Amino acid sequence: MDYKNLVGGSWVETSDSTPNVNPSDISDVLGHAARGDAAQLDQAIEAADRAAPSWAASTPQQRFDVLDLVGTEILARKEELGRLLSREEGKTLPEGIGEAARAGQIFKFFAGEALRQAGDRLASVRPGIEVDVTRSPLGVIGLITPWNFPIAIPAWKIAPAICYGNTVVLKPAELVPGCAHALVEILSRSGLPEGVVNLVMGRGSQLGPRLIESSKVKAISFTGSVPTGRGIAAACGASLKKVQLEMGGKNPMVVLDDADLDVAVDACLNGAFFSTGQRCTASSRLVVTEGIHDRFVAALAERMSALKVGNALEAGVQMGPVVDGRQLEQNLSYVDIAAEDGGKVQGGERLNRETEGFYMAPALVTETSNDMRINREEVFGPVASVIRVKDYDEALSVANDTEFGLSSGICTTSLKHASHFKANAQAGMVMVNLPTAGVDYHVPFGGTKGSSFGSREQGRYAAEFYTSVKTSYLLP
Ligand code: NAD
Repeated sequence: MDYKNLVGGSWVETSDSTPNVNPSDISDVLGHAARGDAAQLDQAIEAADRAAPSWAASTPQQRFDVLDLVGTEILARKEELGRLLSREEGKTLPEGIGEAARAGQIFKFFAGEALRQAGDRLASVRPGIEVDVTRSPLGVIGLITPWNFPIAIPAWKIAPAICYGNTVVLKPAELVPGCAHALVEILSRSGLPEGVVNLVMGRGSQLGPRLIESSKVKAISFTGSVPTGRGIAAACGASLKKVQLEMGGKNPMVVLDDADLDVAVDACLNGAFFSTGQRCTASSRLVVTEGIHDRFVAALAERMSALKVGNALEAGVQMGPVVDGRQLEQNLSYVDIAAEDGGKVQGGERLNRETEGFYMAPALVTETSNDMRINREEVFGPVASVIRVKDYDEALSVANDTEFGLSSGICTTSLKHASHFKANAQAGMVMVNLPTAGVDYHVPFGGTKGSSFGSREQGRYAAEFYTSVKTSYLLP
């Protein structure tokens, strides 16, 4: 078995395994991943629970050393890890290397945070009494991650978890075991005590509920689809478990008449189609005012059709394959639905390449209205639609008319509209003259409405989720 689970410091096999298939070339099987069962998950939870008290008592220096070492190794190996990522997930090689580097930077950031953990000391309203507000680790945290950022998302959950003194059980997505395994392998040589980080690969529908139900697991951090997230929230609510959910998006990008056309086309091309549109922050609804609409659509369609789609590892390829056959079918069916509902589709057809893989052309759907399914439901592929609006006021109202609220963008040269949009877009992240996707690693990430639930991930705000606050009173 090529990728074993890590339970209490030991690499363990399972009787069952899952093949790791390259979506650019399905004859290329990268390896076979362990498929853990309930008993193995329980052992991992117990190991994490046993390790929790001593790791909670570790010094900031110990935590810094581990996080810094892991970050240094990931950055030194970013080309190799990026290649692995592109081979198993289908991002282009520069995108894969960029994501690997980001994982390294996240560990470096939290290494610094380990040294900067502070509390508050206040005078009591009663004379002579001191009040301290400090943060404590939670204990064992269950981390459930999706396939689309196979190294960055595990990194942005594991790094803060251990930075703030917790232990973890990681359950990564079945489609991308290689990156999760490589990351945990680096962590296993970083000086962390046994059991602080555990990896259990296997079926989400089997392992997920068990992880959530365990009374030893104190919190769940989940990134994935809306239906899975809602089920997790309900289960965590029933047992009063702390939970953080990052889910889908239907992110609007407003393009106003006064936008710089090149800036707008660049931002939309990147936001909608890079990483094969498989980003929760992808710009999938392009809300365009009528004065620029036709020029914008013509320019974007031209740039889109010139994108080179192909094997993720091939030099010069700008868009890799879809992650698997199921996702490809879903994307193609949404293209059909958009056409049946009256949209005008350019691109969006299945493509064949030298190697057998899950290739499709990026799709632009014009003449759509915001109530069409293509504008209400997340596709999670390289499919963007254009909604024509009269003016800024209608654009803002259409942008906000969605159950999601992850990222929202505007392309404009008007300071007044940019400023108003920043204040009134109903989203956790707002971008002006930038793609809705592509964010920094040192500031909070997350959304509002149906996109996210619980406190934010990343940056200093991660402490809100990974710690609990204690208020102590002392009469000296
Ligand atoms: P998914 O919900 O199918 O799976 C996510 C994880 O949940 C996987 O590890 C899976 O094994 C596990 N899982 C499956 N069933 C479970 C259950 N019953 N209980 C607990 N865990 C279970 O999502 P996916 O297809 O891997 O990822 C795509 C989705 O992720 C998209 O909707 C995308 O928008 C979202 N996403 C969101 C963000 C964000 O930060 N908002 C980032 C990346 C991806």
